[in-house]
Amino acid sequence: FLISIFHKADSGCNNSVTTPLVSLPPHEIFSSLQTLPLDGYFSIRDNGDAAKDFGNIHHFPPLAVLHPKTVSDISRTLKHIFEFGLGSELKVVARGHGHSLQGQAQAQGGLVINMESLQGPEIRVHNGEFPYVDVSGGELWINILHETLKYGLAPKSWTDYLHLTVGGTLSNAGISGQAFRHGPQINNIFQLEVVTGKGEVVTCSANRNADLFYGVLGGLGQFGIITRARISLEPAPKLVKWIRVLYSEFSIFTRDQEYLISLKNTFDYIEGFVIKNRTGILNNWRSSFDPKDPLQAGQFNSDGKTFYCLEMAKYFNPDEAEVMNQSVDQLLSELNYIPSTLFFSQVSYVEFLDRVHVSEKKLRAKGLWEVPHPWLNLLIPRRKIHDFVEQVFGNILKDTSNGPILIYPVNQTRWNSKTSLVTPEEDVFYLVAFLSSAVPFSTGSNSLEYIQTQNKRVLEFCSHAQLRVKQYLPHYSTQEEWQAHFGSRWEAFVERKKAYDPLALLAPGHRIFQKAM
Ligand code: FAD
Repeated sequence: FLISIFHKADSGCNNSVTTPLVSLPPHEIFSSLQTLPLDGYFSIRDNGDAAKDFGNIHHFPPLAVLHPKTVSDISRTLKHIFEFGLGSELKVVARGHGHSLQGQAQAQGGLVINMESLQGPEIRVHNGEFPYVDVSGGELWINILHETLKYGLAPKSWTDYLHLTVGGTLSNAGISGQAFRHGPQINNIFQLEVVTGKGEVVTCSANRNADLFYGVLGGLGQFGIITRARISLEPAPKLVKWIRVLYSEFSIFTRDQEYLISLKNTFDYIEGFVIKNRTGILNNWRSSFDPKDPLQAGQFNSDGKTFYCLEMAKYFNPDEAEVMNQSVDQLLSELNYIPSTLFFSQVSYVEFLDRVHVSEKKLRAKGLWEVPHPWLNLLIPRRKIHDFVEQVFGNILKDTSNGPILIYPVNQTRWNSKTSLVTPEEDVFYLVAFLSSAVPFSTGSNSLEYIQTQNKRVLEFCSHAQLRVKQYLPHYSTQEEWQAHFGSRWEAFVERKKAYDPLALLAPGHRIFQKAM
């Protein structure tokens, strides 16, 4: 029946774009998908999860969900939608673990591809001079950690939370306390396998199909679906010394942070966060930090004041404890934190990396995990960070905050500028992450509306004060805003869209491209 309702523009050419003569009702689109010979299957009912994400703000029900078993399931489906011109009706999105914040992994009335059901070959570790692991795009980072550790190896760059998929973080960046040294996760990838918006399966790397490779890394799912990734590894430590110190002066805190990230021999992980109106530095859902002296830490009361916590970690093996301790003492002796606020903890490498999961379990048990999360993540040039902090913490978020606020610098010089990720144009910039949780049905300062208004005020201030801030995990409503976000790199982004997804089938939740190019 497809032939009777579509006009094929060029039936001889594989990549021909066909124009729909009539709009197809959803059930006919679904019927046409079901004619495809797949190893996996489509579901049309009980797809509630595909209309949800961690943000819990947007809920866009799809028409159907594809549960692919093989890469060719994804390729066949996309080819079918592309060649038969279903794209004007049926947008397609890859869904990793659904931990987006603003519906980025959803497609209203479209097709969601459940990447976690993709059964690639097993996670495969390759030892050698440049060790790496080959994984499926739907694999969770926590599984990769456990598998690579069997070989004494691990990826170099992480996110704070590991229950996210490879495709999900690589389409953004993957930033954590190791990024000052190794760059984000997208800088630690040797090769990708991608299914483009035309259904083609392409292997790409820095030397082969490099334009697609760099386009997809940080590309917000716009150019293709990552079905496999080859991730660079390093020898994994067994233990981690985990340290927190406090500052009352922001300028001293940042001076120390910037000093530490400028050193060659420094900590393996450097982050920081803001403490506002809190009793106890343990009062932070983001981590399972359990210092040697919990009483002292538990009694710490910020009492209306703002404090800044510098968080550092040093990796080591049991036989290296002495050298590690000397090195930590030496580094700490050069810092200017409040002397009575030095808190140590020692944990296994896995406990350290999987720290947020411990808190997740606690919050889930209290029903506090699946609340709305109006998060705001910003990348702020070093030269503007003081203006930002003065105005935002001094005026906009004066009284309270609704969750952890991370703040730490990274070295842009160690980041690859060829990927699609846009960052401020300065050698050092800060990640500032407002990880707010809203209380459902509240009308007060912890309500979704209140926090969203605060976020808007922060963004308006950045814009008026011309801080040249970039959003991380960006969210915009119009193409003009996206154009401003990408700045001088917008044209290249559009060209890549034309080349790899000309019908603009992919990842509609970002609202970057609404129609065929
Ligand atoms: P999804 O939400 O399923 O998808 C996200 C986007 O990626 C969508 O646009 C989707 O279409 C696209 N996508 C998914 N899979 C693929 C694929 N295979 N190919 C192409 N595109 C794909 N980020 C950091 O950088 N650092 C952190 O420390 C960090 N901590 C976090 C902690 C928590 C508790 C949460 C909820 C999020 C955190 N994030 C962090 C953000 C997180 O990295 C992103 O939200 C990421 O996209 C989530 O991965 P996911 O697998 O859930 O992706």
